[in-house]
Amino acid sequence: MIATETETKSPYDLALQNFEKAADALNLVNDDRNSVRNPERALIVSVPIMMDSGSVHCFEGFRVQHNTSRGPAKGGIRYHPNVTLAEVKALAMWMTWKCAVVNIPFGGGKGGVTCNPKVMSAKEIERLTRRYTHAILPIIGPGQDIPAPDVYTNPQIMAWIMDTYSMTRGHLVPGVVTGKPISLGGSQGRNEATGLGVFNTIECACPHLKMQIKGAKVAVQGFGNAGSVVAQLLDSAQADVVAVSDSRGCVYKKDGLHIAKLIQYKEHAGSVVGFPESEPITPDELLALDCDILVPAAMENMIDRANAPAIRARMIAEAANGPVTPEADAILEKKGAFVIPDILCNAGGVTVSYFEWVQNEQHMSWDLQEVNSRLQTIMQRSFIPVLDVHLERKVSMRTAATMLAIQRVVEATKTRGLYP
Ligand code: NAD
Repeated sequence: MIATETETKSPYDLALQNFEKAADALNLVNDDRNSVRNPERALIVSVPIMMDSGSVHCFEGFRVQHNTSRGPAKGGIRYHPNVTLAEVKALAMWMTWKCAVVNIPFGGGKGGVTCNPKVMSAKEIERLTRRYTHAILPIIGPGQDIPAPDVYTNPQIMAWIMDTYSMTRGHLVPGVVTGKPISLGGSQGRNEATGLGVFNTIECACPHLKMQIKGAKVAVQGFGNAGSVVAQLLDSAQADVVAVSDSRGCVYKKDGLHIAKLIQYKEHAGSVVGFPESEPITPDELLALDCDILVPAAMENMIDRANAPAIRARMIAEAANGPVTPEADAILEKKGAFVIPDILCNAGGVTVSYFEWVQNEQHMSWDLQEVNSRLQTIMQRSFIPVLDVHLERKVSMRTAATMLAIQRVVEATKTRGLYP
């Protein structure tokens, strides 16, 4: 098969392509494009650490701040063998738009270290984290740039980052990272926030599509943190979650899987595969099911030009970041599928990260009900203007969300007068 655009272009080229499409729809002048297109700052660091074997290995790490006109940079840190500067730049830009769409006072940032934590011991990961934190220390801080967990990083790693940063300040600085353990200033509801935000946007989309959650047939690709919470919430709202998958396989039940039992099953079996009250199907069969709502909640680029034509769902709620390639996006648009784009759909995670930062800065802690109710308000308030732009300007929901985000960032950049 001939290589597709997604395969030949870098992630940053693809992020720029998405930016230019929305900027064109806005008729954005070149001066404004130039002011928000490129990352403000990109730091490349060498991270030498002692491995358990006694030898020294030097890892490469990055921290990129794409735009801070609306507030400190915000974005996760990824530990993965495929981390590159181009990927981190793309993800940082994505965070700028995501924070702007939900109108929280943050800019976009992202970080990463090229490593394979699956083959590293906990002590090696701790040494890597502390040395990487030391290397990026001059550019992070509660008012400057606030990291969070991303692929293969977790609350324990955030605790080590906070500890390393705090040691240089002489006092505890919980606001330097979010996604911390609750005992160190983490927020109630952070674990479920992405899934709850996805559910909130599905609720907002239903009246527009004249669809009801009750009785809707749902397929969820990726039964991890985000996917399992969405499945649980949809199940509680009486939707029929007929299929779910993880990296090992997919399970299907025509009249709906018992999600609570499936979560328990996965906890001890390590996968959804083999769930007793279900039959196995292939990943392509899951995508092609005759269902109302498809929730991609696994990895990037899972819906591509090869499998997109078979998708029949009316609504696609992007819990994952970048699950649909640009080619597949065009196919889905032509079919009339309603896509709730990632920068809106999964923004519940960064929104509750923002709540965590606010609580840390104010030395307060909110209860779960307060966190969830504030989250619901923000998700609903963010969905409506995106839908309005989609309908008025006849652009996809993705372009509408990016247009709104760019407008807010450009306005902030110009109002500050950053380039007199
Ligand atoms: P996770 O690791 O908890 O879950 C990912 C799930 O996807 C796992 O069940 C894994 O088995 C499954 N998976 C992996 N490859 C698969 C494949 N080929 N087919 C089917 N399933 C596959 O991760 P998560 O935190 O739930 O994140 C999932 C997605 O949501 C990612 O794209 C992430 O960037 C995005 N996201 C997560 C958050 C968050 O707060 N957790 C916030 C915003 C966006």
